[in-house]
Amino acid sequence: MSENTENQNKTDIIVVGAGPAGVSAAITAARGGKKVVLVERGSFAGAKNMYGGVIYSHAAKEIFPNFLEEAPIERFVKNHSFVLLSDDNSSTTINYQNPSNQKDSFVAIRAKWDKWCVEQAEKEGVYFAPNTLVKELIVDNGKVVGIKTDIEEYYADIVIIADGVNSLLAKQLKLRNDLKPKNVVLGVKEVIKLSPDIIEKRLGLLPNQGSAIEILGGPFAGMFALGFIYTNKDSLVVGFGASLEDLKNKKIKPYDLLEEIKKHPFVANLIENGELLEYSAHLIPEGGYDSIPTLYTNGAMVIGDAAMLVNNVHFEGTNFAMISGKLAAETALDAFENNDFSSNQLCLYKKKLLNSFILKDLKTYKDVVKILTQRSSSFMGYYPQKINEFFNIFTTADGQPKKTKFRNFAKNFFKKRSLSELFYDAIAGIKLIFGILK
Ligand SMILES: Cc1cc2nc3c(=O)[nH]c(=O)nc-3n(C[C@H](O)[C@H](O)[C@H](O)COP(=O)(O)OP(=O)(O)OC[C@H]3O[C@@H](n4cnc5c(N)ncnc54)[C@H](O)[C@@H]3O)c2cc1C
Repeated sequence: MSENTENQNKTDIIVVGAGPAGVSAAITAARGGKKVVLVERGSFAGAKNMYGGVIYSHAAKEIFPNFLEEAPIERFVKNHSFVLLSDDNSSTTINYQNPSNQKDSFVAIRAKWDKWCVEQAEKEGVYFAPNTLVKELIVDNGKVVGIKTDIEEYYADIVIIADGVNSLLAKQLKLRNDLKPKNVVLGVKEVIKLSPDIIEKRLGLLPNQGSAIEILGGPFAGMFALGFIYTNKDSLVVGFGASLEDLKNKKIKPYDLLEEIKKHPFVANLIENGELLEYSAHLIPEGGYDSIPTLYTNGAMVIGDAAMLVNNVHFEGTNFAMISGKLAAETALDAFENNDFSSNQLCLYKKKLLNSFILKDLKTYKDVVKILTQRSSSFMGYYPQKINEFFNIFTTADGQPKKTKFRNFAKNFFKKRSLSELFYDAIAGIKLIFGILK
């Protein structure tokens, strides 16, 4: 260690970024008896953060055992709905609810949730430094030894990098390359104010119950994109995530796409007479397993979005962030036991991730994005459209014989989709199923 690390600005562990990943790492390390500084550029944790809205209880409980009683939760997700939109304004909804897992996930507002999490971390001894932008990492003899902020330099035996999807710090260490458009999705959303009783009436909910609605087809036809609606207490979140590459190639403006979704009667009816409170956009790392960067180096580990840990198929990011933070902090505690902060010791972090659901799931879904992107005109457009047409026939009584209608439907189905396209869709479907079961 060089001389300048022996000064008063030295602590055991510095965590950069107070999102779900950073705060989980910080609180776990503090519980292990270490001095931890959690650095955040925002004026408070959550000030700069946006996401869709759902957090998973399993991860929240692992880090904050008291969260069910004390955390600022908007609504527990009762209804998980999948809505297939069609061009003719119809829609088909698949709704799943299970009375025994009513508290498995919940909607929370990041500005409130992140702030609460950091307050818990402070209670457990973490020193929180808001309004502090980390400009770069200090590297001495090939080891990360601290951070340079706009004001001062601070030193630590280990730095945990939790600065989110763009992670300039992981890039500085050459652990990561620049983001490629195919590996990121642009998330865009509006928050629309409505009274709690209108939300509950429109969605068939009781007070405190919420909905997580995922939207396919309609304006998303032919894109790798998915819409969502989540329920806060007194507002609805309406948004989508769409491949940056698709938006760029198809020259689609995100705001226009959001307007299209809001115009579809399924969405329009839900948000009618609502007041727009907020519009925001943020990138989501969705490159999956193949886009994961090098996760550790001498004196540093990368966690959460900075490490591209998101499962886009199941809309899981916050839980990956929290658990990766916990595993990195546990690795740091082991490093202190052995007084070894080199990559030989910190590689344990990757082993822990490999043994956890995080890398197991990302491996399982390794090819899903590729396949869905290649066949997006089918899975995100043609089939949702056809499912709606089928239900239109099934539910319409208009004096016309059903046999003729179903025959025409079947004829059209094959007319508009060549045999080769159907063949490639079937192969893609089989690949998806076998890839997942492998
Ligand atoms: C539109 C959208 C919808 C989503 N929906 C869901 C969902 O419903 N469920 C779910 O589980 N996940 C969802 N996600 C993903 C989820 O938000 C992320 O996976 C999660 O927030 C990652 O946490 P993190 O702590 O790694 O990063 P972040 O939450 O991005 O936190 C990074 C923190 O680092 C700070 N920071 C950055 N650079 C510096 C610096 N140089 N110095 C100091 N501080 C810095 C930032 O201010 C920020 O507070 C969604 C994301 C988006 C964009």
